[in-house]
Amino acid sequence: MIPVRSFDVETSTRSQMVDITARVRTAMKQSGARHGVCVVYVPHTTAGITVNESADPAVAADILEHLEKLVPRGRYRHREGNADAHIKASLMGFSLALMLEEGELSLGTWQGIFLCEFDGPRRRRVWVKVIPDD
Ligand code: ZN
Repeated sequence: MIPVRSFDVETSTRSQMVDITARVRTAMKQSGARHGVCVVYVPHTTAGITVNESADPAVAADILEHLEKLVPRGRYRHREGNADAHIKASLMGFSLALMLEEGELSLGTWQGIFLCEFDGPRRRRVWVKVIPDD
């Protein structure tokens, strides 16, 4: 059994996509596993996680801008006043299942892993669990 590893991410604005690929890769390699599945989980309700293009930062900016149009801040039932952040986080999702092959994280050429902040700035936590094949 390989224990869950975690790391913290400091966000600096209300909505932000932070590239955490290198940190996930480090946590995954610390497991020592060669082959398996790597589950990455965000234990929050107003931050999510996704995979998308990391080569051009304009892609993350476009995603955030479009989410803002799709789910504007405004009047909702939730009294805390951050219902838009809860909705955006659910649209992104809270976990990823990634593949570990020959000790390396398998991602597409242009792909990166992003923590998606929607109610920052805050300190967020990311859990990484490696489930080895053997
Ligand atoms: Zn809330």
